[in-house]
Amino acid sequence: MDRLVPRMRLHAASIFGEMSVLATKMGAINLGQGFPDTDGPQILKDAAIAAITEGRGNQYPPVHGLSVLREAIALHQQRFYGLSIDPDTDVVVGTGASEILSAALLALVDTDDEVIIFEPWFDVYDAGISLARGRRVAVPLRPPTFRPDIDALRAAITPRTKVLLINSPHNPTGTVFTLAELQAIADIAIEHDLIVISDEAYEHLWYTGHPHVPISTLPGMFERTVTVGSGGKCFSFTGWKVGWASGPRDLIAAVRVVRQHLSFVSGGPFQWAMTAGLDLPDSYFTEFRADLEYKRDILTSGLREMGLEVLPSQGTYFVMTNVRSLGFEEGMQFCREAAERARVVAIPVQALCADPLIGGAYVRWAFCKQPSVLREATAQLTAAFS
Ligand SMILES: *Cc1c(COP(=O)(O)O)cnc(C)c1O
Repeated sequence: MDRLVPRMRLHAASIFGEMSVLATKMGAINLGQGFPDTDGPQILKDAAIAAITEGRGNQYPPVHGLSVLREAIALHQQRFYGLSIDPDTDVVVGTGASEILSAALLALVDTDDEVIIFEPWFDVYDAGISLARGRRVAVPLRPPTFRPDIDALRAAITPRTKVLLINSPHNPTGTVFTLAELQAIADIAIEHDLIVISDEAYEHLWYTGHPHVPISTLPGMFERTVTVGSGGKCFSFTGWKVGWASGPRDLIAAVRVVRQHLSFVSGGPFQWAMTAGLDLPDSYFTEFRADLEYKRDILTSGLREMGLEVLPSQGTYFVMTNVRSLGFEEGMQFCREAAERARVVAIPVQALCADPLIGGAYVRWAFCKQPSVLREATAQLTAAFS
């Protein structure tokens, strides 16, 4: 790592890559990395294939995204959240939510500006803040409930605070922020005139009783919020890497400037496919959610039956367990043993935290897998640990 600039050395390893390599080496079931093991709707594949065959999108598409896709994104925000968005100025398309998040941080955060994120966090945030030469300020989602600590958030604000980066439904905890929590966060953002970047990659994966509310729909919030979406997560094509942001013209204009100099444009045919996806009727999104909720329940009960303490997951692909209930002190040690003894791979939450008191005892499991795979995984775990 001698050649790497110092500010990026902390980000050299990715726990997701590391655990996937371990899964392959051990021939283990991979409940670590969050990707579905079944593809999304055929209609999206057909749309991508048709776009390639008919020569639409095989050359550079428009820099901020196909106009039909930007229109579909605006209509989606209107249909689900009642937001009025101008597709010409208030939307930008990029190479997955990941690139959009990096572009937003690079566009909005200057050297030594402080960016508040909740801990545990998605690793892209931490690396993106370093890329922008900003400073990460972590506010806990406190165990054992992993709700946002609003008092700690208020106490973390300084004159250098520039951006509040939030994520709900939240990876890795499965927490979905309540309206009251979002309102408390919004009040702080407005009082201190902060920009909010809201990562809503799992906007359609919230479960019964825990509806997702975009923070941009709260009074006074649209004008300060960049809302980020992920086509990969909405339609179960995580390999296609099309994501987007919407928000007020001035913030989106800033994100557009940086994003165009990262990947310039992103996969033309896949943008046609995502347009078809966003045009799907409400029933697609309802069934998608119900399917994941069913899988969540299978994994949750399997893990409970083997003696693990399982935190209820309200959204995302993920459920967390406390490994102390099986006599382990540390998630990392449990994950190594689970890979070797049970041939099942999960993610130690410690790798997504700086403070061991927050993530140390917890492990994240992905349930976006076929029911037979989830049942096989819990059978292997039960055999190994009981
Ligand atoms: C997967 C994920 C992303 C990245 O989405 P892509 O569209 O695959 O780049 C962003 N945020 C969270 C919380 C995620 O889990």
